[in-house]
Amino acid sequence: MKLDVKANHDPVNGFMCRVCQICYESREGFTSYGYTTDHTYLFTSKARKFNERVSLEACRLLKRKEKLLKSLSEENNKIKRSSSTSSMFDSRLSSLFAVGSLQRIEENAVPWQPNDEATHCPICFQAFNLFGLRRHHCRLCGRVICDFDAPEIDENGIKLRQCKECVATITRYMHKTSDSNLDSFSLQICKIYKELCKEIQFVDGTLPKFNGLLELFSSNCIVTDKVKNDYHSANILRKSLSDSFVRIDKLSKKIKLITIPDDASQRHKLVNSLIHSITLYLQNHMFTLPMMPILKNNKFIFNENDKVDDKPLESTPMVSSSPSVSFAQTFFSLFKTESQSISEDDKEKLSIFEFQKNQVQNYLQDAMKSRRLDDVQSLRLSLKEIENEINRIKNKN
Ligand SMILES: [Zn+2]
Ligand SMILES: [Zn+2]
Ligand SMILES: [Zn+2]
Repeated sequence: MKLDVKANHDPVNGFMCRVCQICYESREGFTSYGYTTDHTYLFTSKARKFNERVSLEACRLLKRKEKLLKSLSEENNKIKRSSSTSSMFDSRLSSLFAVGSLQRIEENAVPWQPNDEATHCPICFQAFNLFGLRRHHCRLCGRVICDFDAPEIDENGIKLRQCKECVATITRYMHKTSDSNLDSFSLQICKIYKELCKEIQFVDGTLPKFNGLLELFSSNCIVTDKVKNDYHSANILRKSLSDSFVRIDKLSKKIKLITIPDDASQRHKLVNSLIHSITLYLQNHMFTLPMMPILKNNKFIFNENDKVDDKPLESTPMVSSSPSVSFAQTFFSLFKTESQSISEDDKEKLSIFEFQKNQVQNYLQDAMKSRRLDDVQSLRLSLKEIENEINRIKNKN
């Protein structure tokens, strides 16, 4: 078949081939702003496998440790009993024998790595030698490790040499299984994150459409029926976008409310960077929303301050560098409503009208200053209409 001029290669199947516009747009994952792939599943399955392996290893070490401690304490008791009943000479002999039996128990728990096999400590990478760094065996993994990295740890009166890596693995495992707070934290964060992804996916798909429509409106364009239709759909998009931004802001506040223990620095870091990126996201995506012109008497009226220019970011209120002050907070203060008892939908309408009223009042002042009497008249009419609408909504409640 004849190909569209815009025909492009197909990134899904991994090779370059020309496809028609319909095939291009109907492929899985197509969006107007490019191709996206969700790698979350890949990551979680890898993370799960890794965590399972670590837990299994920790479980094995823990069981080995418990078994070892049990047989060591039994052996110790046996030695104590025999030494208390035997003579001085016998006790010395039996203690010599006891050291051997204890070591046999330890070596039975895990095969020890032969001494000559190890030239370096696997943790600090220093070379072993006869007079300096001496070889020791971790009783849990059996590797040859230096004294500093595998110290003797007192476990209820029994000294057991354990390397730092084994201790860390066991501690992490114990912490994970005992700390129920972590589970509630992960659950909360995951739930919020999923909702956040949904909102951001929506905004990423919708905002380019809204911005595209916004570019069609200019103060000197002829308002045809098509333009009116576009204006109408732009208003609908604007409403759903602002709803989505409100929800994103609420999610960010929800994250702030999650209780985290003071010593969990990683979780604090995670939460802070999440809130920070939400703030940045809102800052980078919300600024075109107030640029929506007002359509009155078949003419677009722009707020001069918010007109699209070369540096649109400068015209938006800058957020403070502290992530605790959200950009959305400053933004939504523009739409502050007076009454609390009215419904959400009316509140939204009211806030838009209040915003428009504010804008029209500014235009009116400008027009009066520059003595554009025709404009003054039409603006006064617009102001009257907006005020009527506001009163109508307020009286309804
Ligand atoms: Zn095709
Ligand atoms: Zn070492
Ligand atoms: Zn070890």
